[in-house]
Amino acid sequence: MGESLRGSGGAGGLVLVLNSGSSSVKFALLAPASGERILAGIAEKVGTPEAELQIRRYPDPVVTEQLPEGSYQAVISRILGHLPDAGLETAADGASGHLIGAGHRVVHGGERFTASVLVDDEVIAAIRSSSHLAPLHNPANLAGIEAVRAVRPGLPQVAVFDTAFHQTMPRAAFRYAVPEPWYTRYGVRRYGFHGTSYRFVTARTAELLGRPLTELRLVAAHLGNGCSVAAVRDGASVDTTMGLTPLEGLVMGTRSGDVDPGVFGYLAERARLTIDELNDALYTASGLWGMSGVSNDMRTVEAAAAEGNERARLALEVFVHRLAKAISGMVVGLERLDALVFTGGIGENSALIRGQVLARLGFLGLTEDAEANTRDGRDTRGRISLDGPVVAMVVPTDEELMIARDTARLAAFVNPSRSP
Ligand code: ADP
Repeated sequence: MGESLRGSGGAGGLVLVLNSGSSSVKFALLAPASGERILAGIAEKVGTPEAELQIRRYPDPVVTEQLPEGSYQAVISRILGHLPDAGLETAADGASGHLIGAGHRVVHGGERFTASVLVDDEVIAAIRSSSHLAPLHNPANLAGIEAVRAVRPGLPQVAVFDTAFHQTMPRAAFRYAVPEPWYTRYGVRRYGFHGTSYRFVTARTAELLGRPLTELRLVAAHLGNGCSVAAVRDGASVDTTMGLTPLEGLVMGTRSGDVDPGVFGYLAERARLTIDELNDALYTASGLWGMSGVSNDMRTVEAAAAEGNERARLALEVFVHRLAKAISGMVVGLERLDALVFTGGIGENSALIRGQVLARLGFLGLTEDAEANTRDGRDTRGRISLDGPVVAMVVPTDEELMIARDTARLAAFVNPSRSP
């Protein structure tokens, strides 16, 4: 694998990318220069004696292993234990297969983190102090960081925040019209998420268009299980639909997106719902799932709608209406639109959703190229619109690769001898 793993941008070696959740750890070992995956997998039921690791060493099939010890540390040790098996540590040139760092997805960086950072004691303390903003996610992300520290002390680690990219938003976009102390004391403001994906796809869009990112006005829609839209002006985020939490904005798989905040008081009184019940309903029983009653998965909802299921059709109508409305709203922060970019599982694969959204956005100068759209822009350098003032594109995201690249770049500061 030697040559293909070595990068041009100071990125020789391999990076372990980790996304540690409350009971799962997703991981990939990849070459930041080429994006080549060496290992990938997921550990589930972490923290219990039933913990199980599914790991794939390319091109071999997936192997399942039981991990009775179950802790984050046991999971990380086992993953790292696969490295020598792969022959990576003994690569002939001693560098190309070397593990140069671990990159962690961290959900919430608050106002403190505006870019990815090398992890040290102070960074760990700061992530911990942002945990009230993401009580389910940040502690799990930290558990991953601490497990790597325990198993491989000295390995450079990098934290990559979902929120960091949006810290360039102007206050008109990030402040809510609520009492001042809610912001100054409790940090209630719009932070935005999916930042790592937006960084990746906007850079890739500039490459595909052959124009500098610093001269482009883009709206990007990341449509996966969570969905958001962002306005990116000259490479910087100026607005986005997600807010203090990833609940605000678009209709999602199981999340409601925007609702009238008056719903809380109304249902607390009328239905005697508690805060936990209201939160739970808006996060897990709403969105495509809540409306269609069929599924949270767009493919299944599309199939049911095609068979005439009325609730599934309604779910699609609301999804598309809200998405088109959000996209046009984002243009306000740009003053001019050069390209509309679709990414994430739905954005990359659903010609139906993209076609219906473009049909609503003719007034922005967008017209669907039906054939290119059906082919997900594969033969047209991403383009799915006809010639016009604005281009619509499909640009597949790769958050793991973005995390790996940040990690390689920052790890080179710790051990400069490893960088060419
Ligand atoms: P996550 O946010 O968990 O990373 P993904 O980005 O993989 O999720 O997106 C998952 C969503 O993408 C699901 O709603 C799934 O139905 C949808 N999706 C994937 N392939 C298609 C397809 N061919 N057509 C429509 N939707 C699709």
